Amino acid sequence: MQPIQAAYDHLQRFTADASHELRTPLAAILSNAQVGLIAPLEAGERKHQRLEKIAQITKSMTVLINNLLLLARYSGRLAPESLQSIDLVTMLQGLVKEPTIQMATQSICLNLELPEQAIVVKANQELLHQAIANLLTNACKYTPAGGRVELRLFTQFRQVLIQVEDTGIGIPESDLPYIFERFYRVNSSRSRETGGFGLGLAIAQQIVAAQGGTLTVQSQVGKGSIFQIMLPR
Ligand code: ADP
Repeated sequence: MQPIQAAYDHLQRFTADASHELRTPLAAILSNAQVGLIAPLEAGERKHQRLEKIAQITKSMTVLINNLLLLARYSGRLAPESLQSIDLVTMLQGLVKEPTIQMATQSICLNLELPEQAIVVKANQELLHQAIANLLTNACKYTPAGGRVELRLFTQFRQVLIQVEDTGIGIPESDLPYIFERFYRVNSSRSRETGGFGLGLAIAQQIVAAQGGTLTVQSQVGKGSIFQIMLPR
Protein backbone atom coordinates (compact mmCIF):
# COMPACT_ATOMS: atom_id res chain seq x y z
CA MET A 1 0.00 0.00 0.00
CA GLN A 2 2.93 2.34 0.68
CA PRO A 3 3.61 3.42 -2.95
CA ILE A 4 -0.13 4.04 -3.46
CA GLN A 5 -0.29 6.14 -0.31
CA ALA A 6 2.82 8.08 -1.41
CA ALA A 7 1.31 8.74 -4.87
CA TYR A 8 -1.95 9.85 -3.26
CA ASP A 9 -0.13 12.21 -0.84
CA HIS A 10 1.88 13.59 -3.77
CA LEU A 11 -1.29 14.29 -5.76
CA GLN A 12 -2.97 15.92 -2.77
CA ARG A 13 0.02 18.18 -2.13
CA PHE A 14 0.16 19.10 -5.81
CA THR A 15 -3.57 19.97 -5.89
CA ALA A 16 -3.24 22.06 -2.72
CA ASP A 17 -0.18 23.92 -4.09
CA ALA A 18 -1.82 24.54 -7.48
CA SER A 19 -5.03 25.81 -5.83
CA HIS A 20 -3.03 28.11 -3.60
CA GLU A 21 -1.07 29.52 -6.54
CA LEU A 22 -4.32 30.21 -8.41
CA ARG A 23 -6.19 31.63 -5.42
CA THR A 24 -3.68 34.42 -4.72
CA PRO A 25 -3.84 36.08 -8.18
CA LEU A 26 -7.63 35.58 -8.35
CA ALA A 27 -7.99 37.51 -5.08
CA ALA A 28 -5.88 40.32 -6.55
CA ILE A 29 -8.03 40.46 -9.72
CA LEU A 30 -11.22 40.53 -7.65
CA SER A 31 -10.03 43.29 -5.33
CA ASN A 32 -8.90 45.47 -8.26
CA ALA A 33 -12.24 44.97 -10.02
CA GLN A 34 -14.25 45.60 -6.83
CA VAL A 35 -12.44 48.83 -6.00
CA GLY A 36 -12.97 49.94 -9.61
CA LEU A 37 -16.71 49.27 -9.27
CA ILE A 38 -17.03 51.11 -5.93
CA ALA A 39 -15.31 54.18 -7.40
CA PRO A 40 -16.82 54.50 -10.90
CA LEU A 41 -15.69 58.14 -11.21
CA GLU A 42 -12.08 57.36 -10.44
CA ALA A 43 -9.55 59.40 -12.46
CA GLY A 44 -8.69 57.92 -15.85
CA GLU A 45 -5.09 57.17 -14.96
CA ARG A 46 -5.96 55.31 -11.74
CA LYS A 47 -8.57 53.25 -13.60
CA HIS A 48 -6.04 52.49 -16.32
CA GLN A 49 -3.51 51.26 -13.71
CA ARG A 50 -6.14 48.99 -12.19
CA LEU A 51 -7.02 47.48 -15.58
CA GLU A 52 -3.34 47.08 -16.37
CA LYS A 53 -2.82 45.18 -13.09
CA ILE A 54 -5.76 42.88 -13.89
CA ALA A 55 -4.33 42.20 -17.38
CA GLN A 56 -0.84 41.50 -15.98
CA ILE A 57 -2.11 39.08 -13.30
CA THR A 58 -4.34 37.31 -15.84
CA LYS A 59 -1.37 36.85 -18.17
CA SER A 60 0.71 35.27 -15.41
CA MET A 61 -2.22 32.99 -14.46
CA THR A 62 -2.41 31.87 -18.09
CA VAL A 63 1.28 30.91 -17.96
CA LEU A 64 0.66 28.94 -14.76
CA ILE A 65 -2.37 27.12 -16.19
CA ASN A 66 -0.50 26.27 -19.41
CA ASN A 67 2.33 24.86 -17.30
CA LEU A 68 -0.07 22.78 -15.21
CA LEU A 69 -1.69 21.43 -18.39
CA LEU A 70 1.72 20.55 -19.80
CA LEU A 71 2.56 18.59 -16.64
CA ALA A 72 -0.78 16.78 -16.71
CA ARG A 73 -0.62 15.95 -20.42
CA TYR A 74 2.85 14.49 -20.72
CA SER A 75 3.34 12.20 -17.77
CA GLY A 76 4.92 8.87 -18.76
CA ARG A 77 6.83 7.90 -21.92
CA LEU A 78 5.82 9.57 -25.19
CA ALA A 79 4.35 7.39 -27.93
CA PRO A 80 6.97 6.63 -30.64
CA GLU A 81 4.71 8.18 -33.33
CA SER A 82 4.94 11.58 -31.56
CA LEU A 83 8.73 11.60 -31.97
CA GLN A 84 10.48 13.11 -34.99
CA SER A 85 14.09 13.06 -36.20
CA ILE A 86 15.50 16.39 -35.07
CA ASP A 87 18.85 17.99 -35.78
CA LEU A 88 19.77 19.48 -32.41
CA VAL A 89 22.41 21.80 -33.90
CA THR A 90 19.83 23.60 -36.04
CA MET A 91 17.32 23.58 -33.20
CA LEU A 92 19.70 25.22 -30.68
CA GLN A 93 20.89 27.78 -33.24
CA GLY A 94 17.23 28.76 -33.76
CA LEU A 95 16.41 28.74 -30.05
CA VAL A 96 19.03 31.32 -29.04
CA LYS A 97 17.76 33.72 -31.70
CA GLU A 98 14.21 33.73 -30.32
CA PRO A 99 12.94 37.00 -28.79
CA THR A 100 12.33 35.54 -25.29
CA ILE A 101 15.87 34.19 -25.11
CA GLN A 102 17.30 37.39 -26.61
CA MET A 103 15.43 39.36 -23.93
CA ALA A 104 16.63 37.08 -21.14
CA THR A 105 20.28 37.30 -22.23
CA GLN A 106 20.32 41.08 -22.57
CA SER A 107 22.59 41.71 -19.58
CA ILE A 108 24.65 38.51 -19.72
CA CYS A 109 26.96 36.90 -22.24
CA LEU A 110 25.52 33.79 -23.92
CA ASN A 111 28.01 31.48 -25.59
CA LEU A 112 27.03 28.60 -27.87
CA GLU A 113 29.32 25.55 -28.28
CA LEU A 114 28.03 23.31 -31.04
CA PRO A 115 29.61 20.53 -33.08
CA GLU A 116 30.27 21.13 -36.78
CA GLN A 117 28.09 18.29 -38.00
CA ALA A 118 24.38 17.63 -37.41
CA ILE A 119 23.34 15.59 -34.34
CA VAL A 120 20.08 13.85 -34.98
CA VAL A 121 17.91 12.37 -32.22
CA LYS A 122 14.38 11.02 -32.09
CA ALA A 123 12.42 13.44 -29.94
CA ASN A 124 9.35 15.62 -29.75
CA GLN A 125 10.67 18.93 -31.07
CA GLU A 126 8.16 21.23 -29.36
CA LEU A 127 8.58 19.63 -25.93
CA LEU A 128 12.36 19.35 -26.07
CA HIS A 129 12.51 22.99 -27.14
CA GLN A 130 10.43 23.89 -24.07
CA ALA A 131 12.71 21.94 -21.70
CA ILE A 132 15.90 23.57 -23.03
CA ALA A 133 14.28 27.02 -23.05
CA ASN A 134 13.32 26.54 -19.38
CA LEU A 135 16.92 25.73 -18.44
CA LEU A 136 18.28 28.61 -20.48
CA THR A 137 15.87 31.20 -19.07
CA ASN A 138 16.60 29.96 -15.53
CA ALA A 139 20.34 30.28 -16.14
CA CYS A 140 19.78 33.89 -17.21
CA LYS A 141 17.32 34.65 -14.37
CA TYR A 142 19.68 33.42 -11.67
CA THR A 143 22.86 34.96 -13.10
CA PRO A 144 23.59 38.57 -12.19
CA ALA A 145 24.29 41.09 -14.96
CA GLY A 146 27.74 40.67 -16.49
CA GLY A 147 27.76 36.88 -15.91
CA ARG A 148 28.13 34.11 -18.50
CA VAL A 149 25.89 31.32 -19.75
CA GLU A 150 27.20 28.49 -21.95
CA LEU A 151 24.94 26.29 -24.02
CA ARG A 152 26.81 23.15 -25.15
CA LEU A 153 25.92 20.19 -27.30
CA PHE A 154 28.14 17.14 -27.71
CA THR A 155 28.03 13.36 -27.94
CA GLN A 156 29.54 10.81 -25.59
CA PHE A 157 29.36 7.10 -26.46
CA ARG A 158 25.74 6.46 -27.44
CA GLN A 159 24.46 9.53 -25.67
CA VAL A 160 23.75 13.11 -26.63
CA LEU A 161 24.46 15.72 -23.97
CA ILE A 162 23.04 19.24 -23.77
CA GLN A 163 24.57 21.37 -21.03
CA VAL A 164 23.46 24.74 -19.75
CA GLU A 165 26.16 26.20 -17.52
CA ASP A 166 25.95 29.55 -15.76
CA THR A 167 28.14 31.68 -13.51
CA GLY A 168 25.15 32.64 -11.38
CA ILE A 169 24.13 32.47 -7.73
CA GLY A 170 24.15 28.65 -7.55
CA ILE A 171 21.92 26.35 -5.47
CA PRO A 172 22.63 25.27 -1.86
CA GLU A 173 23.43 21.56 -1.54
CA SER A 174 20.53 21.04 0.86
CA ASP A 175 18.06 22.26 -1.81
CA LEU A 176 19.44 20.23 -4.72
CA PRO A 177 17.36 17.07 -4.02
CA TYR A 178 14.13 19.09 -4.21
CA ILE A 179 14.54 21.57 -7.07
CA PHE A 180 12.85 19.27 -9.61
CA GLU A 181 9.73 19.01 -7.45
CA ARG A 182 6.65 20.91 -8.54
CA PHE A 183 6.31 24.36 -6.94
CA TYR A 184 9.67 24.07 -5.16
CA ARG A 185 11.63 27.32 -5.00
CA VAL A 186 14.97 27.60 -3.26
CA ASN A 187 14.07 30.89 -1.70
CA SER A 188 10.46 31.78 -2.29
CA SER A 189 10.86 35.51 -1.75
CA ARG A 190 13.85 35.65 -4.11
CA SER A 191 12.12 33.50 -6.73
CA ARG A 192 8.87 35.40 -6.37
CA GLU A 193 10.69 38.57 -7.46
CA THR A 194 11.77 36.83 -10.67
CA GLY A 195 8.17 35.79 -11.30
CA GLY A 196 8.60 32.00 -11.21
CA PHE A 197 6.11 29.43 -9.97
CA GLY A 198 8.65 26.73 -9.28
CA LEU A 199 7.40 24.60 -12.20
CA GLY A 200 10.09 25.19 -14.85
CA LEU A 201 12.45 22.45 -13.71
CA ALA A 202 9.64 19.97 -12.95
CA ILE A 203 8.40 20.46 -16.53
CA ALA A 204 11.90 20.16 -18.00
CA GLN A 205 12.57 16.95 -16.08
CA GLN A 206 9.22 15.41 -17.01
CA ILE A 207 9.75 16.23 -20.70
CA VAL A 208 13.26 14.80 -20.76
CA ALA A 209 12.13 11.62 -18.94
CA ALA A 210 9.21 11.26 -21.40
CA GLN A 211 11.78 10.92 -24.23
CA GLY A 212 13.88 8.37 -22.36
CA GLY A 213 16.51 10.85 -21.12
CA THR A 214 17.68 12.25 -17.80
CA LEU A 215 18.13 15.75 -16.42
CA THR A 216 20.80 16.27 -13.77
CA VAL A 217 22.37 19.23 -11.98
CA GLN A 218 25.64 20.22 -10.33
CA SER A 219 25.81 23.49 -8.51
CA GLN A 220 27.88 25.54 -6.09
CA VAL A 221 26.59 28.57 -4.24
CA GLY A 222 28.19 31.77 -5.52
CA LYS A 223 29.92 29.95 -8.41
CA GLY A 224 27.14 28.75 -10.69
CA SER A 225 25.24 25.71 -11.94
CA ILE A 226 25.39 23.14 -14.72
CA PHE A 227 22.15 21.51 -15.85
CA GLN A 228 22.65 18.55 -18.18
CA ILE A 229 20.15 16.78 -20.41
CA MET A 230 21.20 13.30 -21.52
CA LEU A 231 19.30 11.79 -24.43
CA PRO A 232 19.84 8.33 -25.86
CA ARG A 233 21.03 8.40 -29.47
P1 ADP B 1 11.19 29.09 -10.94
O1 ADP B 1 10.02 29.36 -11.78
O2 ADP B 1 11.04 29.54 -9.51
O3 ADP B 1 12.48 29.52 -11.57
P2 ADP B 1 12.07 26.34 -11.45
O4 ADP B 1 11.33 25.07 -11.27
O5 ADP B 1 12.49 26.69 -12.84
O6 ADP B 1 11.19 27.49 -10.80
O7 ADP B 1 13.34 26.29 -10.51
C1 ADP B 1 13.20 25.90 -9.14
C2 ADP B 1 14.17 26.67 -8.28
O8 ADP B 1 15.49 26.23 -8.57
C3 ADP B 1 14.16 28.18 -8.53
O9 ADP B 1 13.21 28.82 -7.73
C4 ADP B 1 15.57 28.59 -8.21
O10 ADP B 1 15.67 28.88 -6.83
C5 ADP B 1 16.39 27.33 -8.49
N1 ADP B 1 17.12 27.42 -9.78
C6 ADP B 1 16.75 26.90 -10.97
N2 ADP B 1 17.68 27.13 -11.91
C7 ADP B 1 18.68 27.79 -11.31
C8 ADP B 1 19.94 28.29 -11.75
N3 ADP B 1 20.37 28.14 -13.01
N4 ADP B 1 20.73 28.92 -10.83
C9 ADP B 1 20.32 29.06 -9.54
N5 ADP B 1 19.15 28.62 -9.06
C10 ADP B 1 18.33 27.98 -9.93
